[in-house]
Amino acid sequence: MIIECAGTRGSIARGGQEFSRFGGDTISVQITAKSGHVVIIDAGTGIQTFGNRLVSTKKGSYPLPLHLFFTHYHLDHIVGVAFFKPIYDKNQAISMYGPLLEGVDGAEQAFRNMLTPPYSPVSFDGHEIKASFTFNTIGEQIFEIGSLIIRSIRINHPNHGGLGYRVEEDGKSFVLLTDNELKHSYPEGRPFEDYVEFCRDADVLFHDAQFTRSEYEPVRGWGHSTIEDVVELSNAANCKEVGFFHYSPDRTDSDIDRIYTSQESLVSNGCSRFFPLTQSSRFEL
Ligand SMILES: [Zn+2]
Ligand SMILES: [Zn+2]
Repeated sequence: MIIECAGTRGSIARGGQEFSRFGGDTISVQITAKSGHVVIIDAGTGIQTFGNRLVSTKKGSYPLPLHLFFTHYHLDHIVGVAFFKPIYDKNQAISMYGPLLEGVDGAEQAFRNMLTPPYSPVSFDGHEIKASFTFNTIGEQIFEIGSLIIRSIRINHPNHGGLGYRVEEDGKSFVLLTDNELKHSYPEGRPFEDYVEFCRDADVLFHDAQFTRSEYEPVRGWGHSTIEDVVELSNAANCKEVGFFHYSPDRTDSDIDRIYTSQESLVSNGCSRFFPLTQSSRFEL
């Protein structure tokens, strides 16, 4: 599988020179299977990049449907959906998967809520959106999409959590956990040890690392992890490549260089590599 990151920012998108290297778009990650199937996790502003490319190359278009998974429905993870060009292609089938959360009955309701005037000039039931959709309200379960096996796990996050995903193909594994507060318990979430098991021996892990431990106490309960907690998770789970993302919107490129690449804990660890993700990070497993 090929894993590509087109959005690294948490909470809200940023523009400007000082955010250009690590990226200002909010989270979207594409996984392209050996079978040709395309899975996208989250529709932050970064999904525009994938949508434009899919339309220009027709990759993933008919007859293969696109599979769009949501971790949860906070705006930074869904706001790009109206700018995802495949939704305007009448030949495109799109399957959406999202959790049942309080007040939102799965991806369909989140999508309809987003695409409702006056919040959007495009309405879900209007004539502009031409793709055919199937909606799947999901919990912790296993999916088979082409050559990919995808597992989900509940995350520790406000507003009744959400889901993280593990994607496997031919013995290789990729885990994406964003908006997951590893060291704070939520009624719908999981204890730290369960995330260690979920990430066990992952070849690539992307994890929310919005804060440092020294910044953490005032933001405990906001639903995000520290770099140090992600390092602890990765070492306990024996992950190989570990990318940090969901950067606080105020972190500039030079902040990220200083904070995410120079920590002592990152040098003396058991994993092979820790690094801050950029909007062009790409892995082939
Ligand atoms: Zn977020
Ligand atoms: Zn969130």
